[in-house]
Amino acid sequence: MSLRENPTILGIETIILDLPTIRPHVLAMATMHSQTICLVRITCSDGIIGIGEATTIGGLAYGPESPETIKVAIDSYFAPLLEGLDAARPAMAMALLARHVVGNNFAKCAIETALLDAQGKRLGLPVSELVGGRRVDALPVLWTLASGDTARDIAEAEQMLGMARHNAFKLKIGKRPLEQDVAHVGAIKAAMGSRASVRVDVNMAWDEATARRGLAMLADVGCDLVEQPIIRHNRDGMARLTALGLIAVMADESLTGPASAMDFARSAAADVFAVKIEQSGGLDAARAVAQIGHAAGIALYGGTMLEGAIGTIASAHAFATFPALEWGTELFGPLLLTEEILEEPLAYRDFALAVPTGPGLGIALDEDRVARFRRDRTTSQFALQGA
Ligand SMILES: [Mg+2]
Repeated sequence: MSLRENPTILGIETIILDLPTIRPHVLAMATMHSQTICLVRITCSDGIIGIGEATTIGGLAYGPESPETIKVAIDSYFAPLLEGLDAARPAMAMALLARHVVGNNFAKCAIETALLDAQGKRLGLPVSELVGGRRVDALPVLWTLASGDTARDIAEAEQMLGMARHNAFKLKIGKRPLEQDVAHVGAIKAAMGSRASVRVDVNMAWDEATARRGLAMLADVGCDLVEQPIIRHNRDGMARLTALGLIAVMADESLTGPASAMDFARSAAADVFAVKIEQSGGLDAARAVAQIGHAAGIALYGGTMLEGAIGTIASAHAFATFPALEWGTELFGPLLLTEEILEEPLAYRDFALAVPTGPGLGIALDEDRVARFRRDRTTSQFALQGA
């Protein structure tokens, strides 16, 4: 290879990691007791390795992809398309994937993340500076109170306020009868007062009539925002609920990339967009969703699929470039895990997450920890360690 040639993509490795969580995380559609990550490693001919992550909520409970299907899709279909391509042109690789692979947004995001990490390392630039330039160096991060138990949630919120880690809280509701859910939210808001913002995520659990009542009742108890109250495909219903003007309505599950963002903007079907890099199909697509929302006067919020450290930092790099971030972010995924897989943990302080300044994603994996949590680890590894 001459010096003038760009490096090529040599190989793509996918690894399933199972990481334990600090407590059960209760959502309308699933209760999570651990988090499973599909880690992607792209090796380039110049010796640079980029990392990416695809993570879902509750296996297949949230969307059509799971960590296991993502691994199979990348191994069987993405890798043969990408191997041998110019590694220094992530946008070209992503355009090729867009032509040959329908959907599979989470897998595409993991690949784009790894390509951008490698390219950033190659050029000595943080990913945020590669994809448009960062506007901020730290991002506000809320915390989700998802034990479902009111007293336990209030104690957890007090602890977070005391640590100056979070001053906005999201409650997962929609599993219990409406009156019970609203009483739970109201009690937490009453305990917090003006010290913290309290918001809810219904994860599509309500029909539209229940949502109409729910929005009014939640506004009455001081809740600031309702996330995805109804099923993802009912855009007209979201527009009707938004038009009530009772409380801010956020679209999350409905936003599956720039085209859906355009639909929502055109129909004024949300006050706020929860932008997620995986759901959007990558960092570039997430930035398009944000730009469409911003142009339509829709406020922005940086969402999470409860990614581990890699996906969280990839999201942070993208969100740091957004034109606005009126509702902050929920990039707390790594804080939900009991085990660290980075050499240096992410920096959460003063109610915010610092966006790394090093090349690429600006993080490094602890390979011993990765080996320990990979699903396909051999028992002999443990036998040796125990010996
Ligand atoms: Mg949500």
